[in-house]
Amino acid sequence: MRRLLIAGNWKMHKTPSEARVWFRELKRLLPPLASEVALLPAFPILPYAREAFQDTQVAYGAQDVSAHREGAYTGEVSARMLADLGCRYTIVGHSERRKHHQETDALVREKLLRLLEEGITPILCVGEPLEVRERGEAVPYTLGQLAAALEGVDLQDPRQLVVAYEPVWAIGTGKNAAPLDAEEMHQAIRSALSKRYGEGFAARVRILYGGSVNPGNFASLLSMPNVDGGLVGGASLGLESFLALLRIAG
Ligand code: PEP
Repeated sequence: MRRLLIAGNWKMHKTPSEARVWFRELKRLLPPLASEVALLPAFPILPYAREAFQDTQVAYGAQDVSAHREGAYTGEVSARMLADLGCRYTIVGHSERRKHHQETDALVREKLLRLLEEGITPILCVGEPLEVRERGEAVPYTLGQLAAALEGVDLQDPRQLVVAYEPVWAIGTGKNAAPLDAEEMHQAIRSALSKRYGEGFAARVRILYGGSVNPGNFASLLSMPNVDGGLVGGASLGLESFLALLRIAG
């Protein structure tokens, strides 16, 4: 019922020239897939993503967006610009932005709304820091982030939203969540979405797991019934490891 999504978050890695070569190689080596693939490179790479992947099975998008529609906001990139480049997805609320750029839940919600206005699907990142998990409060904390970002947000179609559960302590650390812990959180997220948007809607929204996904742990994470794919940082940068993840997802 839910098509798996494997999304590569490249963060601030690769130059546009490097990305262009990588895209060419990916196109050459990509097997036919039942799952959906998306690449989320830095802004200057997006025109090359369009050049490579327009009219292919590979989607692409950005890692962030401005909360403003247009205007005197030096350094910002609007949702309209991203839509013009053909972005299908864009991350909002990544923990690195929450941490290094002091992004609040209210700001994340504004960004999510800007994307929806332009028909871009937000990949909404939520997840708890280590001390919260150690206190046994991971589920209420993460559901709190979800509720704040979706407060008053009207969604009609489950394809309008992707949620990524990314425990902060698992991102870039080589320490992934145990599959059953991820499943517990994904179930809690789905049930919160069901209360907000109805059961039929929630049953079709994809909830990705993110945090040190690699070819060694992906199959066991994907074997969980509520894990619908991965938001992948480090392991999406190398062609070999990314292709290995795609083959595992199938
Ligand atoms: C991420 O950047 O969203 C991420 C999950 O990174 P990594 O896979 O490197 O932990």
